[in-house]
Amino acid sequence: MSETTLSQEPVRVCIHKFGGTSVADADRLRAVTSIIREAERDSRSCVVSSAMAGVTDLLVALSDGKKDRFEALDQLERQHLAVLAALALADDDPAHDSIAALLSETRVLADAIGSVRVAPERLRDRLTSMGERLAVTLLAAALRQAGIPASAMFADEFLETSGAFGEADPTSFTDDRRTAAALRAVLDSNRIPVVTGFVGRGPDGDARLLGRGGSDLTASLLGSALGADEVVIWTDVPGVFTADPRLVPESQPIVHLHYREASEMAYFGSKVLHPRTVIPLIAKGIPAIVRSSIDPSLPGTRIDGQVGGTRQEQIAVSTLRDIALVSIEGGGLAGVAGVSARLFASLARAQISVVMISQGSSESSICIAVREADAGAAEAALRDEFRLDIARGVVEDVSIRRTVSIVTAVGSGMKHRVGTASLMSGALSRAGVNILAIAQGSSELSISFAIHDHSIRAAARALHEAVRAIPSEDPSRSPRLAIAIAGLGRVGREVAANVCANTPDRLIGLADSSGQAFAAAGFTHAESTRVTHAKSSGEQIAEMPEGESARNPALSMVEASIRSGMPNLVLVDTSATPAMVETVLAALSAGIDVVTANKEILACSTERYRELRSVSARTGAMLLGEATIGAALPVARTLRTIRGAGDQVLRIEASLSGTIGYLLGEIAAGERLSQTVARAVELGYAEPDPSADLLGSDMQRKAIILKRLAGFEGTDNVLVEPFVDVNGLTPNTPDFDSRLDEAGAVITRRIEEAKKSGATLRYLLKLVPSDKPSVGFVETHSGSSFDGMHGSESRIVIHTELNGDRPLVISGAGAGARPTAAAVLGDLAMVAERRFGGRERS
Ligand code: ADP
Ligand code: ASP
Ligand code: MG
Repeated sequence: MSETTLSQEPVRVCIHKFGGTSVADADRLRAVTSIIREAERDSRSCVVSSAMAGVTDLLVALSDGKKDRFEALDQLERQHLAVLAALALADDDPAHDSIAALLSETRVLADAIGSVRVAPERLRDRLTSMGERLAVTLLAAALRQAGIPASAMFADEFLETSGAFGEADPTSFTDDRRTAAALRAVLDSNRIPVVTGFVGRGPDGDARLLGRGGSDLTASLLGSALGADEVVIWTDVPGVFTADPRLVPESQPIVHLHYREASEMAYFGSKVLHPRTVIPLIAKGIPAIVRSSIDPSLPGTRIDGQVGGTRQEQIAVSTLRDIALVSIEGGGLAGVAGVSARLFASLARAQISVVMISQGSSESSICIAVREADAGAAEAALRDEFRLDIARGVVEDVSIRRTVSIVTAVGSGMKHRVGTASLMSGALSRAGVNILAIAQGSSELSISFAIHDHSIRAAARALHEAVRAIPSEDPSRSPRLAIAIAGLGRVGREVAANVCANTPDRLIGLADSSGQAFAAAGFTHAESTRVTHAKSSGEQIAEMPEGESARNPALSMVEASIRSGMPNLVLVDTSATPAMVETVLAALSAGIDVVTANKEILACSTERYRELRSVSARTGAMLLGEATIGAALPVARTLRTIRGAGDQVLRIEASLSGTIGYLLGEIAAGERLSQTVARAVELGYAEPDPSADLLGSDMQRKAIILKRLAGFEGTDNVLVEPFVDVNGLTPNTPDFDSRLDEAGAVITRRIEEAKKSGATLRYLLKLVPSDKPSVGFVETHSGSSFDGMHGSESRIVIHTELNGDRPLVISGAGAGARPTAAAVLGDLAMVAERRFGGRERS
């Protein structure tokens, strides 16, 4: 294409709007000049700017008298003069004088407001708009400094609005000739107009604000007035995200949105766009692009009239705070015609806008959401409107609930999907979020849930997760657990590695006895590997860069998980400490599922165990502990299946101590018990102090766990015949070995006696529903279910009603870190199964 053809093509015009953080200091202003220089290569630009970051908040506080006047004015002056100095403008640049004049006007306005008790709205709007005036003055100067001719323009000289202060409407959303003429005059003289956002000109010629965040609207109004080709909203995030990235760290930028989706998202609180931004763009089909001024290489989000796009992105989550719910209730309301009409008319008369309406199917209650600031007025308006009905008892009451928030799922991806609402409300309830009201947008573009403000984070994340989980071919939307692991011994490390490498789930927390590390968006495989490697070479989490020390690390980790609002939380307890029971209770109380490999939890005191069960029943959180009995052997799940199928467990016998199995085998072969014990310790079968094994207390604990898993009522007192009564002895006691050998000789004799009658001596635990559990020596005869068992193998024999005399036998390696970790992973799969049902996870 030749130069001449190019110049004959109509020149593209783009509006570039920069938000507060994009013009926050001299460096950011220079970044803006680069963006404009780049844009000017193939189009003409018109720039809109917000006030520098923080300035509008300061001015609002100043006009509300909520901030010390002298301090605030000082801060404003320092901030702007610092940028002016850093720009090192030519001496004769008009910005020097303009900034001085604007700062002095700000001072005069602030003083005027400070001298009256109630500030006149006119003064407030003018004062609050000073931030934008200062910003465009600096930005235009920065452009000139970079060799790009530019002029600052104050929109209250042309952009006409209604008379309402604080939140005025533009007089024309589309064909604003006066604005077009003002901008063209500057463009025609080959300068870039740098226009104040947020402010317009009221019918009286004075400044009017367009509402907080209103610079976005200014940009689209200018775009429409000029018939621009594109409006670019430059901000501090690379586009519109699937949820507010501050609340939902795992949210993703959206590539494309339809105008209606963008406007619904903005209406329901996505701060990235002013709610009315797209209105001026629709008629002319002007696209808006939301981009990051921090990283302009990213494409951002395109908003236009095209339907479709990739399905993955079609549902997003918005949050709106500072809401109140007003409800009117009464059985008499049903069938009374025109209740809603009267309700809306009365609110409209009081100039209160309704954010959301939710009507019970019975028509016996209507619930509306209004801005919290309007709550009192709304209540008064309704009480007045319905006072006769209240007197007659048709309406029971008008009630009001404050500190409410609304979370909304928005997107065309919801259309024609059956069950979306119940999927979402299910996800919210599972996250422990109490739903106060639900409203489905008539357009099917949105579903909103009113919730208590304190659960906004949990709600946003749960909804986001649920929305992503809506069935689709896209594997990246597979639902995921968020897993926090307490205890990083071999089992814990094995579980961590597997979660990161082999499951779709997210590992969000790691704790040992020194401290905890937490990552709301999930540890990467590399991060978790680093932590677990450091841990296996002896480093403590508290000392690692990722970690922090804590008095009760596991509990701190659980609290951080709860605060994060992450949905589908699971606590994995791979510690071995009885103290974990407190943390497990805290987790269950918060509705967090718990998977434990810690025997101390499932074998805790009767009272504590009842508490665990009742909390879990109350919150619906699961407590699973397959790993506590026979490592990876499917004992707990088999018992669950038996009980779930309506069968009855009649009795259980089990050999569950690898150590004792080994010892029995060796002494039967003629070895001395003292030597065998020493070898068992050496081989790692037994603990360095083997007394828990020898006394039978390890088996006793397993008997309690098994009894609880089997659902046997009755006492937790276990009748224990020790394998060897080493009470009061330790390996360091002088006659430890000789005492062991004496006892060993007795056992050898019993083995031989048993043999004579064709039996085998075993050390077993026995459970029946009605009697005390017992642990001790038992002779089993040929044909018993324990036949052929050897060495350190574990075996559990379950007699049930349906199985008759053919009991169920589960047998195999019942110890070791890897099988134990496998059992934990199996339980996690079960949690996922229950949470996500049969939904495919990849
Ligand atoms: P600007 O000053 O550029 O107008 P805002 O602070 O008004 O910027 O809006 C950008 C901010 O909006 C982001 O920093 C982000 O925290 C917040 N935000 C809320 N919801 C969303 C969302 N869905 N996508 C992107 N950002 C969002
Ligand atoms: N500066 C104004 C505000 O903070 C307008 C805007 O940022 O769009 O609300
Ligand atoms: Mg904004």
